[in-house]
Amino acid sequence: MPAKRLLSDIVSLTPSNYDDFTRCPRLFYCNALLGLPASDPVASTDQGLQMHDMLWKIHSDGSCADEEHVADVLDAHGLDTPSAREMITRHADRCPSGATDGAAHEYEVARFHRQPPPMFMATARIDAIWVHDGILDARDYKTGRKFADRVVDMTAAHVQAYALAEHARSRGLRLRLRYEYLQPEIDEDPEPWELDDEGLEIVEEELRAAVERMWKQEDWRGVNDIEICRTCRYRSICRDSAAPGEPAWPVLSTDSGDSDH
Ligand code: SF4
Ligand SMILES: [Zn+2]
Repeated sequence: MPAKRLLSDIVSLTPSNYDDFTRCPRLFYCNALLGLPASDPVASTDQGLQMHDMLWKIHSDGSCADEEHVADVLDAHGLDTPSAREMITRHADRCPSGATDGAAHEYEVARFHRQPPPMFMATARIDAIWVHDGILDARDYKTGRKFADRVVDMTAAHVQAYALAEHARSRGLRLRLRYEYLQPEIDEDPEPWELDDEGLEIVEEELRAAVERMWKQEDWRGVNDIEICRTCRYRSICRDSAAPGEPAWPVLSTDSGDSDH
């Protein structure tokens, strides 16, 4: 079967798989289409997921500005550490919750593109959505390192923006996408991205064109670029890797130890 037949008629785009595709088509192929487990270590996302959870819980029945409430929530989950407190304080400084007309946390958004072909479905899970001052203020909490100084320069944000756009438009709101970095060592958040209709049309065409390029792939050739490959989670098993090594996953021995061959 040609490799591109692994694509479904309606290609599923997520922030992370689109980011993979823009870095390397083979990375997208290994992960989104073959579902291969990583052969090489990747940075743990445990701390980030915990902080997302804590922020959700803190806002669901109280305020991030209420230190006692924050301490209670963190303590109830065994996470009342100085660094967790520091991250919540940093968030509270930038939280619009005191002035909102509505909020949602861990919110799933989806948007279907039909015409012009090819079709695709963009989905994203948004950490927090605040409505204030005529703006749908979508936040993505980050606990990793900063990759760019503007949200518009982050490819994953393009899928988030496209998936969120209808949500904002149907409520007569402008869309703003902001990445909130929680670690104190990151001085400033990237510049938020405010999108108008024209900007959203450009994003839609960019995503459509990317899906078109997926359909043109013959063998999902990798980039073979040391700068990209050296942090890739498939670098040890990828035929196009510029940074091959030994896979870190457990290798099962086929030698039973009692063979007489
Ligand atoms: S090792 Fe390099 S070529 Fe292979 S999938 Fe990863 S980034 Fe692409
Ligand atoms: Zn808050």
